[in-house]
Amino acid sequence: MSNYPEFDISDPWILSRRGGKNTVDPMKPYGWSLEKEYTNSGQAEDTATIFLSNYECPLRCLMCDLWKNTTSDPLKEGCIPSQIEWALDQLPPAKHLKLYNSGNFFDTRAVPRQDHRQIASLLRNFETVIIENHPKFINEKCLEFRDMLKPELQVAVGLETVHPEVLPRLNKKMKPDDFRNSIGFLKKNNIRSRAFILLRPPFLTEEEGIYWAKQSIDFAFDAGVECCTVIPTRAGNGAMDFLSENGFFSPPGIRALEEVLEYGIKLKAGRVFADVWDLELFSDSYEGPDKRKNRLVEMNLTQE
Ligand code: SF4
Repeated sequence: MSNYPEFDISDPWILSRRGGKNTVDPMKPYGWSLEKEYTNSGQAEDTATIFLSNYECPLRCLMCDLWKNTTSDPLKEGCIPSQIEWALDQLPPAKHLKLYNSGNFFDTRAVPRQDHRQIASLLRNFETVIIENHPKFINEKCLEFRDMLKPELQVAVGLETVHPEVLPRLNKKMKPDDFRNSIGFLKKNNIRSRAFILLRPPFLTEEEGIYWAKQSIDFAFDAGVECCTVIPTRAGNGAMDFLSENGFFSPPGIRALEEVLEYGIKLKAGRVFADVWDLELFSDSYEGPDKRKNRLVEMNLTQE
């Protein structure tokens, strides 16, 4: 494809394409789930995810739809601990927890620093806690929080793609070297990290999408992550729908996801997962949705 729009993809343009947000309750998460994940122990173990209702991420990436379930005002002290407490009451016991907040855990407008100690106390029974963060927010605060936590802290960071022309157009305000430096900082401080990799971001053909997802996995492992999650790019946030309608974006097919997952697992450089949360949005369907999903889930859970 490799054709690009003539206008600048900027915050104002992305914001102008958006629809409305969902109403979220700052005292309750907007979602929670329990699933198995292949862990560092070499087994598939119960992993809970809490989707916190949180302050909108200030970065405004082109493909992001996480803003839909966020607040426009910073959260007050005490909201996040209340949400976690509420979610833990609903969830069955699990060894590992993903505490996802649609943005940056170390953005103090999202998670006030005064809440960190209480959050650490609520999470004391887990073995691992995974939070998400943009490189701009990876700094000494991560180390402070790590030292408060009994579980091991892991940090998930969106690399998205290392395509030199596509990454700047994602409006992520990050270069591959920023990612590398942040992962290096975490690694130096014994904090494991995982990368989110986009499969077929806008402006790429299916073949280019596969090629650049593989290149991005290589880059992420070389930077020092111990895990990569491959996410099929989807529309639905306004900006991506515009690009889709104007020939700049098509979602990837499931064969592409399988190929990239297989490539990543065979590297044996660390764990590699396919995000299977939105499989119904795939552009091809050569088998029933359950069969396709089951095969990807099996690869996720066995790393084979
Ligand atoms: S950094 Fe993450 S949460 Fe923030 S806008 Fe980009 S994709 Fe969305």
